[in-house]
Amino acid sequence: MAVVLDIAGKPARHPEKAGRPDTPAAKKPDWIRVKAPVSKGFLETQQIVRSNGLHTVCEEAGCPNIGECWEKKHATFMVMGDTCTRACAFCNVKTGLPGPLDPAEPIRVAEATAKLGLAHVVVTSVDRDDLDDGGAGHFAEVIRAIRTRCKATTIEVLTPDFLRKQGAVETVVAARPDVFNHNLETVPSKYLTVRPGARYFASIRLLQRVKEIDPAMFTKSGIMVGLGEQRNEILQVMDDLRSADVDFLTIGQYLQPTRKHHEVVRFVPPDEFKAYEAIAYAKGFHMVSASPLTRSSHHAGEDFARLKAARIALTR
Ligand code: SF4
Repeated sequence: MAVVLDIAGKPARHPEKAGRPDTPAAKKPDWIRVKAPVSKGFLETQQIVRSNGLHTVCEEAGCPNIGECWEKKHATFMVMGDTCTRACAFCNVKTGLPGPLDPAEPIRVAEATAKLGLAHVVVTSVDRDDLDDGGAGHFAEVIRAIRTRCKATTIEVLTPDFLRKQGAVETVVAARPDVFNHNLETVPSKYLTVRPGARYFASIRLLQRVKEIDPAMFTKSGIMVGLGEQRNEILQVMDDLRSADVDFLTIGQYLQPTRKHHEVVRFVPPDEFKAYEAIAYAKGFHMVSASPLTRSSHHAGEDFARLKAARIALTR
């Protein structure tokens, strides 16, 4: 797993966490095995990302799937800088006060999408609570730039919660992404410790609002397990998401980026993920991905094709 650690002498990536006591570091079980990031495809992806001056959540979040995804030239772009205004206990993205938006970034994202030959692109961002619209206008610009440059590419956005940003979700939906994804990350009882700047029902409401504005738009959300949540809480999250008419659910194992982050309370075995997948399908999700290494953008292109097929099959 790629892990970005605080480096002595450099500004701390997570100044708010620096003074906290270390959390226990649990040994990973055998079922968490990842591909080393060494392939030719990996290096080509890295070169395209770097030469376009872009950030990826693959690197910034220390995603365990980077060796596999980048070998296939699947990268998830993280726009609006590399610095987040929130300080979630699970996340490895740098925190602090971000710089101004780069108006040329949407064009560079579109250029990199074309160079990577992506049939389906996922674009996410840091939280930008400092901006009046939370960055919604920038997301819309990115979507429009990709549509113009890569006409056949389908677009998935993985947005922040746009908490208290009136009109933000409407701005993003109006730009017509193919998939609107917003992750709940965890169950409501863990929000204060895991995702303190967010509000569970505001996130549910955001997803519900997408469907109100455009009932045809695909919606998606995900949670991590292993943070101390209970099984019945996960089932409640599924029901809440179905109440908001969310189509696609992802469930993956939380992995601790550094010892200043939330501890892994439990490694959930693969058969429990299978059981969650079966329950989620029974509750009406059109598409479910649940496994230890599931991440919301992992295999996103293939999964989007399956999601579309599932909806078509339901309407026949
Ligand atoms: S799963 Fe997503 S974030 Fe992780 S490496 Fe793949 S594309 Fe990047």
